[in-house]
Amino acid sequence: MPLEPVPFFDLKVQYAPIRAAIDRAVAAVIDDASFVLGPDVRRFEDSFAKYCNVAHCVTVHSGTAALQLAIQALDIGPGHEVIVPANSFVATAEAVHYAGARPVFVDVDPDTFNIDARLVEEHVTERTRAIIAVHLYGQPADMEAVGEVAHRYNLHVIEDACQAHGALYGGRRTGSIGDVACFSFYPGKNLGCAGDGGAVVTASESIAGRVARLRNHGGLSRYEHELLGHNFRLDSIQTAVLSVKLPYLDEWNRARRELASYYTSCLEGCKGIKTPLVAAKCESVFHLYVLRASDRARLISRFEEARIGHSIHYPKPVHLLAPFRKEGVRLPVCEAASRQIISLPLFPELTRVQQDRVIQAIVDADLPDF
Ligand SMILES: *Cc1c(COP(=O)(O)O)cnc(C)c1O
Repeated sequence: MPLEPVPFFDLKVQYAPIRAAIDRAVAAVIDDASFVLGPDVRRFEDSFAKYCNVAHCVTVHSGTAALQLAIQALDIGPGHEVIVPANSFVATAEAVHYAGARPVFVDVDPDTFNIDARLVEEHVTERTRAIIAVHLYGQPADMEAVGEVAHRYNLHVIEDACQAHGALYGGRRTGSIGDVACFSFYPGKNLGCAGDGGAVVTASESIAGRVARLRNHGGLSRYEHELLGHNFRLDSIQTAVLSVKLPYLDEWNRARRELASYYTSCLEGCKGIKTPLVAAKCESVFHLYVLRASDRARLISRFEEARIGHSIHYPKPVHLLAPFRKEGVRLPVCEAASRQIISLPLFPELTRVQQDRVIQAIVDADLPDF
């Protein structure tokens, strides 16, 4: 019998136990025909704001839209620069571009792969307006160090928390630390809807008000527009799904952390492997479990033989992608890491048997020392 594959990610197993509740919630929206900005949207926004420990949540149709509107709501646009880490999903820099500003790439910390706050200062110019701190792989960025530079140069701090719903930094929830924070509810994120979705959260009433207007054509009220916005609204059906799932988020995150610590306890000290570091003050929600491998190609071919799902986040740093490459920026830490990192299967329902197969494949790969 052929070996069962170990999936990198499996959304179907998460859906099974909550299926009845989700089906009911979706049917209720349809019965009510409250598809756009209906009562479910407000209900979810209130509960997600509470979850993040902030006063305001404004849902939008993706994490990318959340980032773009957060930037625009801070009055950042043409002629301005925004500092972003080079190891992230392309959307972080893309949102800066679509807000009309220029992303400026900074290298990452070799242990956490998050923005290296010590390198931010040398990139600040008179055009810099904000730093986007990405909480990559579920681990908060070094917000104290980022906040310190931001304070010195009077810059805004935007959290890209698209991979870090529920993570803690110094006991504070991600989303409540910067001036404004952005989440994605793409299905594969720690909290995902049944399609695309996102949210902006903030303690600031004025930022939340501007985002709420920008997501809905800039309108003050219906057909009264004093500025132009977008149609970036999130459907009520999506918020109904999210309201069912939000109460499970902490439990799912706890499962991810336990799975991550099992991987780490089994793989620590394994030749040719570096397990991920959880930094001081941080409680990661392990959106991804990312290893460094001395010979990634050899590990991947072992994974393929053993039918183990895997992925790379990210194989090419954003500053080297075609739209940004022409600037000629080189960032050595990030570029070296991108040749060694590999993401293991990790989702709350992953079983011990599946995990042991992943671990066995890594041991069998018998990687050389670094
Ligand atoms: C997923 C993600 C985004 C974009 O979110 P979408 O909902 O896919 O638009 C932005 N930044 C990071 C770090 C992400 O992981």
